[in-house]
Amino acid sequence: MLRLVNRTAITMCLLVGVAHAEVPDGYWGIEQTQVILDTTMRVKLAPDLSHLSGAEFQALEELLAAGRVMNALYENQKHRGAAASKAALLELHQASGESIETQNLLDLYYMSKGPIATTLDNVRGPILPADAEQPGKNVYPFGLGRDEIDAFLAANPERAAEIRGLRTAVRRSSAENLAADIANLDAHPALDVLHDGLRARLQSEQADADSFYAVPYALAYAEELSEVRQHLLAASRLIRNESPDFAAYLQNRARDLLSGDYESGDASWVSGDFANLNIQIGSYETYDDALLGAKAFFSASVLARDASKSEALVDAMAGLQAIEDSLPYQHQKTVRSRIPVGVYEVIADFGQARGANTATILPNDADHARKYGRTILIRSNILSNPVLFANTKKRYDSVVDARFRDHLTSGGKFNRTLWHEVGHYLGVSVTADGQNLGDALGDRADLLQELKSDLVSLFAAPALRASGYHDDDSLRAQYADGVRRTLQIVQPRPEQPYQNMQLMQFNFFMELGLLEVDGDSAQLIVNYDRYHQIVYEMLEQVLQIQYSGDYEMAGQFISRWNYWDEKLHGELAKKMRDSGIYRRTIVRYHALGD
Ligand SMILES: [Zn+2]
Repeated sequence: MLRLVNRTAITMCLLVGVAHAEVPDGYWGIEQTQVILDTTMRVKLAPDLSHLSGAEFQALEELLAAGRVMNALYENQKHRGAAASKAALLELHQASGESIETQNLLDLYYMSKGPIATTLDNVRGPILPADAEQPGKNVYPFGLGRDEIDAFLAANPERAAEIRGLRTAVRRSSAENLAADIANLDAHPALDVLHDGLRARLQSEQADADSFYAVPYALAYAEELSEVRQHLLAASRLIRNESPDFAAYLQNRARDLLSGDYESGDASWVSGDFANLNIQIGSYETYDDALLGAKAFFSASVLARDASKSEALVDAMAGLQAIEDSLPYQHQKTVRSRIPVGVYEVIADFGQARGANTATILPNDADHARKYGRTILIRSNILSNPVLFANTKKRYDSVVDARFRDHLTSGGKFNRTLWHEVGHYLGVSVTADGQNLGDALGDRADLLQELKSDLVSLFAAPALRASGYHDDDSLRAQYADGVRRTLQIVQPRPEQPYQNMQLMQFNFFMELGLLEVDGDSAQLIVNYDRYHQIVYEMLEQVLQIQYSGDYEMAGQFISRWNYWDEKLHGELAKKMRDSGIYRRTIVRYHALGD
């Protein structure tokens, strides 16, 4: 619902050239927004694109246009009031003479990718008049809770695959919803062809507001996705002669968005030989679904490949089988001999992918990964950004004893990140009884998967020293970044898999003595001589749980290591927060005219 702005509620004044305005009730005032923005770092990505060809430049415009649609789609997936509340905020901003109050709200909206922001105390709430955040965001019926959907799935187990579908939106089976979906299908005949049985299923669904059904994203977002498809096809035509593999990928992915089946695009993306441009586009990651952890959300990243840095990694990937064979478990697999790793400059990110993310590995689909492998995208201009690294270093220095501070380098971060992504390739990929880890471990799967990859990265470091990839300094730098990674400036919320698994590592490292608090300086010291053994022990337990596929065992392990003690963690967190570090990041893009 569009909340109209009451213009008479806005009082304006001019103070040293900056417009100020009272914002209406329900909008966060400057006292709430400024404290967050004062601790927010602003980074602008403007990679050198002079090596792109003329056709690539033209194709780039189409890819960016596709990304803009994905960005709006993502905000809509996250919150049903996203578009309306943004429109109202923009109107308020204009009416206030572009006041600092409304500009702050626009910045927070941008950074939060919607109307729900996180305070410095890690509490989430709407920054403007909008509904409270829903666990299922806007891809489940509004107000749906875990108890109701669990009860429905328990009573209707045959509906689980449909309701839990990765790329489906769940609806209440009201007559109104069913009629709207059938009308939408009528309006998009291609979907009728590509989604065999969908019409029959919608027509046979009994109207019952206590029941649920799911429709493919392809139908739920038919208009927007067909717009994205047009841009991808246009880009494909533009670079067809220069970069046929990339053109084929774009064509496949354009169709994937209509079919909801990403196999063709994933295969041609992972295995293709591209020139200077790449794009990650679609819906892959489920982190935003706090209800069932099942739904993927939309994103796009438009990237320029760094050829020389990418080629430098080819040799390093040659020794992967030996690392796999040395992992602490008994069920080693044969690792692919060719792992596509590329180093990229980020041109622009959209939707879920927007931010200071340092690397990506996709696809997640276990069958696609098994058949085609996964592509690793290292985001070089984020990893080496001096503003971001200076902030990371300041935070580290505030809690680590002076003797250890200079061990942290941006090269260490690059390597830890790279080998984390490679770590996704290694270790357990199916349980003992052949299940996908996601099916077996449910909402605990993501956390364990990320934990495994972090630990594999650290586990591999000594072997990389032995092979000559590392020297002593770069090995230590990777270890230092492994410690840096575990430090939390606030207690994680339960639904944050990354932060929670990092905290678990910190606790494991402290209890076993990789880390300790120095008696004199009251700061952390790193016992590098114990590092490998302790990483080995934690990784061994994680691999055992993943291989067993035992959901209860996973829960016990997580609760054993995931704890927060105000005296220890709280004190360290406070030191880091008080060190004057930036807490958040707003990333903007030259290519988008920012
Ligand atoms: Zn990861």
